[in-house]
Amino acid sequence: MASNNKFFVGGNWKCNGTKDSITKLVSDLNSAKLEADVDVVVSPPFVYIDQVKNSLTDRIEISAQNSWVGKGGAFTGEISVEQLKDIGCKWVILGHSERRHVIGEDDQFIGKKAAYALSEGLGVIACIGEKLEEREAGKTFDVCFEQLKAFADAVPSWENIVIAYEPVWAIGTGKVATPQQAQEVHAAVRDWLKSNISPEVASATRIIYGGSVNGGNCAELAKQEDIDGFLVGGASLKGPEFATIINSVT
Ligand code: PGA
Repeated sequence: MASNNKFFVGGNWKCNGTKDSITKLVSDLNSAKLEADVDVVVSPPFVYIDQVKNSLTDRIEISAQNSWVGKGGAFTGEISVEQLKDIGCKWVILGHSERRHVIGEDDQFIGKKAAYALSEGLGVIACIGEKLEEREAGKTFDVCFEQLKAFADAVPSWENIVIAYEPVWAIGTGKVATPQQAQEVHAAVRDWLKSNISPEVASATRIIYGGSVNGGNCAELAKQEDIDGFLVGGASLKGPEFATIINSVT
């Protein structure tokens, strides 16, 4: 990371954990030594957010993994932004590839969710990234820019947004992007922000990388000029390894 932005590391626990395993994870995180100059966020499954909020150190903020697109009400199975704020969430992950490609959320719907969450004061971790066949077809930038544009068209300000570049082929596969591959896309995303939003937004917005980040590969990735942190799935379920990733800030 070469910019002056504060390093940001998020742990996306996805649909994993039990009361017991989460008690252990929280206790490992509470006793870990974490670099002071890093924003750290964890994203438990909805049903455990309250447990985590009540037991985890305030040093780490809580994010949701999704939120409803508007005010709550008759929307069976959904969780509203107001409810997330009520139990202490500060962030929400939106546009994650599992929601795009497994659940079927589209760019416009994700953009609306981002706009609503921001309007209610939540920070948004806005995920973008190409599938393997898109990379192989030379469409990585096109796909990422289209997803970015959908966020840009919907949100009034970039102040509370962290962009997570997560190539779909690297998520949960153990196949991490090389530092060069990640840096190339991060730099392109920053250029896109510069041309399409403003130079100020381009330099102030944190662009974090996700996809098979672990304790062994984080240091090389963190050295890249445009990588301002990580969104970590599998390795965030292990407290000591997650701490190593947080402490890889350079
Ligand atoms: P992974 O997941 O670290 O397990 O690849 C990253 C993510 O989906 O955010």
